Amino acid sequence: MAARTVRSASTSSTDPGVTPVGALPGVGPALVATLARLGLERVQDLWFHLPLRYEDKTRISTIGDLCVGERAQVEGVVEAIERGFRYRPQLKVAIVDASRQTLLLRFFHFNRAQAEQLRPGTRLLCYGDVRHGAQGLEMVHPNYQRLSGDAAVVVDELLSPVYPTTEGLSSKRLAGVIGKALALLPAATQLELIPPRLCAQCGLTSLRDALLYVHRPPVDANLAQLTLGLHPAQQRLAFEELLTQHLSLKRMRAAIRRRIAPELGGDGGLRRRLLAGLPFELTAAQQRVAAEVAADLARPQPMLRLVQGDVGSGKTVVAALAALAAVESGQQVALMAPTELLAEQHLHNFRQWLQPLGIEVEWLAGKVTGKARKLALERVASGAPVVIGTHALMQEGVAFARLGLVIVDEQHRFGVQQRLSLRDKGREGERVPHQLVLTATPIPRTLAMSAYADLDVSSIDELPPGRTPVQTIAISNARRSEVIERIRVACGEGRQVYWVCTLIEESEQLRAQAAEVAYAELSAALAGFRIGLIHGRMKPQEKQAVMDAFKRGELAILVATTVIEVGVDVPNASLMVIENSERLGLAQLHQLRGRVGRGALASNCVLLYQPPLGQLARERLQVMRDTTDGFRIAEKDLELRGPGEVLGTRQTGELSFRIADLSRDAHLLPAVQRVGESMLEEHPEQTERLIHRWIGGAARYAHA
Ligand code: ADP
Ligand code: MG
Repeated sequence: MAARTVRSASTSSTDPGVTPVGALPGVGPALVATLARLGLERVQDLWFHLPLRYEDKTRISTIGDLCVGERAQVEGVVEAIERGFRYRPQLKVAIVDASRQTLLLRFFHFNRAQAEQLRPGTRLLCYGDVRHGAQGLEMVHPNYQRLSGDAAVVVDELLSPVYPTTEGLSSKRLAGVIGKALALLPAATQLELIPPRLCAQCGLTSLRDALLYVHRPPVDANLAQLTLGLHPAQQRLAFEELLTQHLSLKRMRAAIRRRIAPELGGDGGLRRRLLAGLPFELTAAQQRVAAEVAADLARPQPMLRLVQGDVGSGKTVVAALAALAAVESGQQVALMAPTELLAEQHLHNFRQWLQPLGIEVEWLAGKVTGKARKLALERVASGAPVVIGTHALMQEGVAFARLGLVIVDEQHRFGVQQRLSLRDKGREGERVPHQLVLTATPIPRTLAMSAYADLDVSSIDELPPGRTPVQTIAISNARRSEVIERIRVACGEGRQVYWVCTLIEESEQLRAQAAEVAYAELSAALAGFRIGLIHGRMKPQEKQAVMDAFKRGELAILVATTVIEVGVDVPNASLMVIENSERLGLAQLHQLRGRVGRGALASNCVLLYQPPLGQLARERLQVMRDTTDGFRIAEKDLELRGPGEVLGTRQTGELSFRIADLSRDAHLLPAVQRVGESMLEEHPEQTERLIHRWIGGAARYAHA
C-alpha cells in the first residue's frame, strides 16, 4: 500500500503533460510565442488540440473517375500552360494522367518562378476540390508538389489532420509539434483520470487510444463519421470535456454553499397580507415553487435558485413573496431587470403590492441622476427594504446596509459574472446574500444540467387558469393590407393590438425610426382608432404614460419596438403582429408572443415575413405555428442555433468547448452527471487534476 502511494506521487510530479511546450525538441522561443497565441502552453494542451478536419492523401484517383465536389489527389503530367489576363491575371495548367483525361488547375495568385516550374512535361501530385469549369473538371489553387523523373509516388499511410492554427504557423508544422507531444503520452493507465470502474460502466475507450486515433486516424477510418465528430474516439474526448466542465461548476457551487447567508425565515405576516390582497389564488405550481424558495431562504447557506416558468406563468408574485420573506427578517432586497421597461414594470407591480403593506420601493435606473439619485443612494445605504432597477444597481457608489436577497429577472440576458457582481454588493467576508434568478426562457434540461449546474432549478410548469393558447399564422408582407384590415376588425370588437417592429439594428435610433414609419402608416390606414408609439429612445415618463394609456384601454393599437419583449403585461391585448419576423430567433419570437394570450380572450399572433424565406427562417416560423410550449421551442432553438446563443453567453465564452458540442453531444450528459457524482464523492484528487488538465488556471472560476 505504502509503495503504491509513493509511486503515484512520483508519477504525478513527472507528469509530461504539464511540461512547457518549449521543452519539446525543435520548439524555440519564437514558436513558443506563436503556440501561446493558440493557448498551447503545456504539452497536454497540444494533446488536446484536435484536428478541424482530415485530408485523405492515402490514395491517388484517376482523373477519369473524379466526381465534382470531392477532394481528391491526382498525379499527372503538365500538357499545356497558359497565362491569361482576362479580368484578372490567372494561370491555367492542364494535366493529363494514365486515363488520358485532362484536368485543369487554375491559379489566381502566382509568381513568375511558379509559372516557369510548371512547364509541359512536369510531373505533378495535386490535392484539391474538384469542380466544374468551363472546359470540364478543374481544381482551383490545389496543393501540389513536383515529382522528379519517374520516381514512384509515395502516398500517405494515414489521413492527414488539418489543425486550427494561426498566422505564421502552418497546419503541417503544427502537426509536427503535436506529433512530438504525442510521443510523450504516458501509458494508458497513467493518463487516465476517470477511474477504470466508471470508464467501464459508460463503455469509454481509453483516453490514450482516443487521442492517438483522433490525431492519426488509420486509412480505413470512417471519414464521414470523423467529420461529424461522432466517432467513438471523439465522443470519448467530448465526454471528458463535458465531465470536467460539470465538475468545475459543481465545485464552484460547493464553494459558494460553504459560505453563510442570513436566515430569512420571517414570521410570514407580510406574505399572508400580500396573498390576501391579490385578486387571484396562486396556482399549485406557484405555491410549490414559492415554498421551495422559502425553505431555501430560511437556511443559513446562500440560496442559488433558478425559477423558470413560461411567459405569463406568474413569476413576479413568487419573487414578491421571496422579497417579503427578506423584509420580514429585516434584510434588504435588490431586484435587477435587464431593460428599463421591464424594471419599471416590476416597480409598478411591487409598489402596487407593497405600498398597502407600508413598504416603500426604491427605484435605481441609469436615468435616475443628480439629486434624485443621491437621495435614493442614501436611502439604500441606510437600509431601504426593497430596491428595483437595471444594471445601474451594480454600479460603483451603490452600497447596501444589509443586502440579504438578490433577485435577477431574465437571467439569460446577464452573464454569470454580472450576477455575481451584484451578489458581491452584499458580501461581508464569508457572508453573501441569497440569489433568486427568474427566467422565462425555459432552459432545456440538458443545458440546465451543464451550464446551470451551479443553480437549483424550480419550474412553474402551469399557467394561471383560463388562458387559451395563442393561434399563430405566418403571412407574407405582400398581404400586409389584409393584415391591416384584420386589425380594423379586431379593434372594432374592442380588442387591443400590438404591432411590433423588429428591425435588427445596432442603433436604438434606427429602431425608433422604423417604429415611427410603421406608426405613420397605421395612423393613415386606421384613422379613427387611437394608436400609441413606444420605443427605447423615449424618456421613461413618456414610455410609462404610453404604457399606462394602453393598459387603461385608451389606445387601441400600440406600435412598439422589441422593448416590449420581456415582462410587459396587458391582459386585454389579444392580437399581435410581428413585422420581419423572419429575422428573429425563436426565443425572441416566443417572448414577444407571450405579450398576448395573458387574459381570458382567445388571442392571435401574425408573423409578417419578407419573402423569400431561407431554410432556417422557414423552420423557425413553422415551429412558432406548431406550438406555444416554451420547452419545445427552447429545445428546437438549441437544435437550430446551438447552445452558446441560446444562453446568450457567446461573447463571454462561458460555454465554449474545445471539443464538445452541446447540441450534438447532449446524449452524453446523463452519464456525465452520474460519473461526475461518483468522482466528486470518491475521487477528489482526480477531479482536481481533470479540471487542471482541461481548464487550467482559467480565471473564469476565480469568483467562486
Ligand atoms: P411572468 O411569469 O411572465 O413574469 P407575470 O408574473 O407577469 O408572468 O404574470 C402574468 C400575469 O398573470 C399578471 O397579470 C399576473 O398578475 C397574473 N397572474 C399571476 N399569477 C396568477 C394566478 N395564479 N392566477 C391568475 N393570474 C395570475
Ligand atoms: Mg416577468
